[in-house]
Amino acid sequence: MINMKNVYKTYANGVTALNGINVDIDQGEFVYVVGPSGAGKSTFIRLIYREVKPTEGTVIINDTDLKTLKESKVPYLRRDVGVVFQDFKLLPKLTVYENIAFALEVIEESPRNIRKRVMDVLDLVGLKNKARFIPDELSGGEQQRVSIARAIVNNPKIAIADEPTGNLDPDTSWEIMRIFKAINDRGTTIIMATHSKEIVNTAKKRVIAIEDGLIVRDEHRGDYGYEA
Ligand code: ADP
Repeated sequence: MINMKNVYKTYANGVTALNGINVDIDQGEFVYVVGPSGAGKSTFIRLIYREVKPTEGTVIINDTDLKTLKESKVPYLRRDVGVVFQDFKLLPKLTVYENIAFALEVIEESPRNIRKRVMDVLDLVGLKNKARFIPDELSGGEQQRVSIARAIVNNPKIAIADEPTGNLDPDTSWEIMRIFKAINDRGTTIIMATHSKEIVNTAKKRVIAIEDGLIVRDEHRGDYGYEA
């Protein structure tokens, strides 16, 4: 469902972030992306939701070749790819409920269905009782849980996360990982860049290591593999 063939990315400033990436990821996999800072992890992740376009090579997401995907169709791709960021990116003036409802693609849904879907994802992340709060009234871990709820409210096939626990303490990070595992158990593919050695080594999931823009290791039930 995710297929990259000979993918290169050189940014406008001449920096080559990806140097010939080849990878296949199946529906339902949980994949950690590890590697040193500047290795190309974020660029790899950003290709998947077409935040970044490859300079060369083929990126296929859910049977769609991103090279031929018209700009007007990018929102359809994004409906199938939920994104979670390190810094949450919530809208500060909206409530928790509104932040999630705002992301919901409303295709002639009744207000009642909208409410049900938002409350269902809030239940999944354990924040039903904070629906009326604004982001400032929540802890970092709670804000990240809202951003996860927002990422999955459209039932995407894929959820990608770039360092989702980067700003969180270890206990909170485990809670966030538990939620990602629950989402993966429902069949959603998870692709997560992380520097957390403990999390990767405990999870025993697929690990893709990127260095200097190349995949240098791709292991099922892998380890973090770096001193951290
Ligand atoms: P990582 O996530 O592993 O830290 P990145 O994909 O963010 O790696 O970066 C890979 C390389 O590309 C780095 O040298 C970085 O400075 C460069 N880079 C990343 N984003 C941009 C950008 N928007 N413009 C120019 N260079 C960038």
